[in-house]
Amino acid sequence: MPRAGALWQPSPNFGPRRDDATPDLVVIHYTAMESCDAALARLCAPEHEVSAHYLIAGDGTLLQLVEERARAWHAGAGAWGAVRDVNSRSIGIELDNAGDVPFAEAQIVQLVELLGEILADHGIPPERVIGHSDMAPGRKRDPGPLFPWARLAAAGLSVWPGEGPAGPALEASPERLARLMAALLRFGYRGSQALVLFDAFRQRFRPLAGAFDQADLDLAETLARRWPVAEG
Ligand SMILES: [Zn+2]
Repeated sequence: MPRAGALWQPSPNFGPRRDDATPDLVVIHYTAMESCDAALARLCAPEHEVSAHYLIAGDGTLLQLVEERARAWHAGAGAWGAVRDVNSRSIGIELDNAGDVPFAEAQIVQLVELLGEILADHGIPPERVIGHSDMAPGRKRDPGPLFPWARLAAAGLSVWPGEGPAGPALEASPERLARLMAALLRFGYRGSQALVLFDAFRQRFRPLAGAFDQADLDLAETLARRWPVAEG
């Protein structure tokens, strides 16, 4: 059943969730296309083999392409915590946005409403609302540095630990990188290269910061302490 209030624009690009999985993650994307119509066409074209559960237009129109009980094809390769088949465990939301411009107010209002419903319906905690860049470090950059994570967190729909003042640049010594890596892995990032994970973390939590500094370590360790990723 499509969600009440959503325009049903079914995509053929989906399958069953594997192992009868139920969604316990939400992955946020931007479309990086020139228009919502172009994004919708692509997400519904069999030859592209991509989709998402929802697409939100700049004017706030909510389109549903795949039912939530089905496995939409939005996440691709990547992982968050112990979850490796992210598509089977998540709901994917695409935002019509070219990638380098602010998100429209009506669109974010609709996203806040939708996330509130999804989290309540599935019992998903706010720390499990993540960006595509979080689960695919080094491969994906959406929803990008302009996405309003702090606003979502203020509405209880994501997490935002705040940020201490930037400090002087620190040498990225092996010891510091190991500390950073350990914290980012505890929060949920997956990967073997500290600098790739650092880049993904920076995109989400400190997109405008300069050189590596103490605030990075403090912030990563705060995330790890307050929201350690589920192991199952
Ligand atoms: Zn994406």
